[in-house]
Amino acid sequence: MSKAYAGGCACGAIRYDVADDPMVATDCQCQDCQRMSGTGHGSYLTFPRRSAVTLTGKAAHWDIVGDSGNVKTRAFCPTCGSPVYMTFAAMPDLFTVHAASLDDPGRYQPQMVLYGVRGHAWDHVDPALPKFDRMPPMP
Ligand SMILES: [Zn+2]
Ligand SMILES: [Zn+2]
Repeated sequence: MSKAYAGGCACGAIRYDVADDPMVATDCQCQDCQRMSGTGHGSYLTFPRRSAVTLTGKAAHWDIVGDSGNVKTRAFCPTCGSPVYMTFAAMPDLFTVHAASLDDPGRYQPQMVLYGVRGHAWDHVDPALPKFDRMPPMP
C-alpha cells in the first residue's frame, strides 16, 4: 500500500483517511454527476474496503437511484456544501471519494471515462482514456 489517502470538505469539518489503494479511478459524465458537481463530470477514487476508512465529522446524506437501479448515497458537508464521498447500498464495502477532496488531488489518476454518451462538447476529458458509453462491462 502507498501512503494513506487523506482528504475532506472545503471547510475542514468532514475528514477521511483511507489506509488502502484505490481499486479504480474514474471520470463520470452521467447527468447525475453533472448536476451534483455543477460541471461536466465527477472524478472519483473508489476504495475496496470500508474497514480501511476512518471518518471524522458529520456529513449530511442523500440517496439517488443510479442508471443501474442501485441506490447511491452521496455525502456532503452541511456547513460548506462540498460533496465528499459516496457509498452504495448494494456494495456496502466500497467507499468512493471525490478526487478534489483529496489533500493532494494530484494523486488522482483517472483510468477511464464513464457515461461518455452524456458528455458535453465543452467538457474535455483525457482523450487517451478508455471511454464507455455507460458503465464498463462487469467482469
Ligand atoms: Zn465543510
Ligand atoms: Zn456519474
